[in-house]
Amino acid sequence: MKNEPVKEIRIKGIGASSGIAIGMSFDHEVEGQPIVRRTVSAPRIEAEVRRLSQAISVAKVELVKIREDAGRAIGHRLAKIFEAELLILEDSEFFKQVAAEIRKSQVNAEFAYQRQVSRTVKSLTASEDRYLREMADDIRATAGRVLANLVGSVSQKLRNNRGKIAFANSFSPGEVVLMDKYRIPGFACTHGGPTSHAVLVARSLSIPAVIGVTGLFQKCPGDCKVIIDGDAGLVIGNPSSETVSYYRTEAKKRQSLKSKQLRNLTRIGNTTRDGRRIEVCANIDFPSETDKMLSAGQVGVGLYRTEFFYLSQNQFPTEEQQYDIYRGIAETFFPRSVTLRLFDLGSDKMSKNHQAQEEINPALGWRGIRFGLDSVDVFKTQVKAILRASEWKNIKIMLPMVSSAQEIGRAKRMIRAAMKELKHQGVKFDEKIEVGIMVEVPSAALISSTLARHVDFFSLGTNDLAQYTLAVDRGNKKIAKLYRELHPGVLKLIKMTIDASAAASIPVSLCGEMAGNALAIPLLIGLGLKIFSVIPPSLPRVKRMISRMEYIECRELADRVMMQTTTEKVEALLRKWYAERFGEKDVEL
Ligand code: PEP
Ligand code: MG
Repeated sequence: MKNEPVKEIRIKGIGASSGIAIGMSFDHEVEGQPIVRRTVSAPRIEAEVRRLSQAISVAKVELVKIREDAGRAIGHRLAKIFEAELLILEDSEFFKQVAAEIRKSQVNAEFAYQRQVSRTVKSLTASEDRYLREMADDIRATAGRVLANLVGSVSQKLRNNRGKIAFANSFSPGEVVLMDKYRIPGFACTHGGPTSHAVLVARSLSIPAVIGVTGLFQKCPGDCKVIIDGDAGLVIGNPSSETVSYYRTEAKKRQSLKSKQLRNLTRIGNTTRDGRRIEVCANIDFPSETDKMLSAGQVGVGLYRTEFFYLSQNQFPTEEQQYDIYRGIAETFFPRSVTLRLFDLGSDKMSKNHQAQEEINPALGWRGIRFGLDSVDVFKTQVKAILRASEWKNIKIMLPMVSSAQEIGRAKRMIRAAMKELKHQGVKFDEKIEVGIMVEVPSAALISSTLARHVDFFSLGTNDLAQYTLAVDRGNKKIAKLYRELHPGVLKLIKMTIDASAAASIPVSLCGEMAGNALAIPLLIGLGLKIFSVIPPSLPRVKRMISRMEYIECRELADRVMMQTTTEKVEALLRKWYAERFGEKDVEL
């Protein structure tokens, strides 16, 4: 077979998480997903056949182990049932047929294997002979084992592909957490929205990512050299040596610029040009990020997503484990405050093992505070760990997905019960710990003046507020165009919440991705927002932008924006303002 020269391919997607990653790619589609046909390039064919042979060998080792364990448990005579499967795995004729198919059709091993299995099973099940029909069942079971090895379980697959770039249709936030653990330098996927939780995790872990890449598998089949440019939203397959060296230099430059900007963070003031104090805090999802912040300067934490700790280990952490983490964060950021959001689990942030039942509409289902109030032990364990870590008096508790005053009442009663237990045990904690809520459900924004009477602070979660107000799934690429934080309906709810907090004299921050959106910043300042919370890499940019604006002009701008009737008009007005105010080039969007 003649080796065809490989051509550099550039595929455009959405730049979801900034940064550059260079490496070999691998197809991360896992068990339970349909097995897709992939074209394997001529030079990779023999590697594909070896992959099949390895998967069969691993299946044999697994089966021998299972037979031994079963032998001990159910007796060696019964354990002989596994012999049939072993014989099938050792069938060299079957292996040769699949290998021939891989070579002839230039397809991936799992596809060829599954096709061959289906053909064999079909002819066996049609047989009159009972023995042959039963053999079909053994073949199915054996095939499942081989395919699982080829396709891999989530963590196994990521662990086996250390250093490679992951391709899939979509990733869950839990998978992205594992990417960090198994040193996967970047990923690309065909689906996903820019504020999906998987993307947020990627940003906070600084894993470069490009999403919504149409034709990813066809144009850039797995196992080829790729570059992920998370800023430009580019996937480059088979890059030329010039492209690789350009990106290597660029990656170093960008990294050192970022570190320098973060180190100099404290040099940027905390006020607008006309002296209005605006605080910019950090959104943190993982404790490791706190180290980076230490050298970066003093900032508070506006949102700490505690649920990602659960997602990284797929089980609920103990009180001690949580206490260690919360205490570490409180110490690191002292004297600045740290807002710990109670587990916001459910929807895409929930492991399948802990879901009570499959939900048809999980984003509207058993999540956030609803899950917390029903899971008394989980709630109490977390609150106790937080209270014990609150000795430094710089921790605040935040409740996710609140939609009514009753939920706040119930949560506060549960917090008081935890306090009582600790007091009984003689444990010291901050008895005046502040309790606030995320305003991210439209009903909460609409009754924010009522809710303000029950809490110490608000934090606007615009990622969900936009999703629920517009009825647009934040993770669905197909309708990503409809996901508009600057929609007049969303802006009205933001304004209502800021006004309600001012009337009740409680602070309000904004911790959704909107807080880092350059177009939104002057508008939010004009609406009266005084606390922004953004991902650490955005801190210098957002602080710099704020320090160049004047509150007075932002207020005038906000008045005009709030009179606009469409998102397009809002955006046009904001762009025009930037162009007139700073010159077009200055808008860092
Ligand atoms: C939000 O909804 O805006 C938010 C900050 O929470 P999360 O993104 O974790 O849902
Ligand atoms: Mg949210």
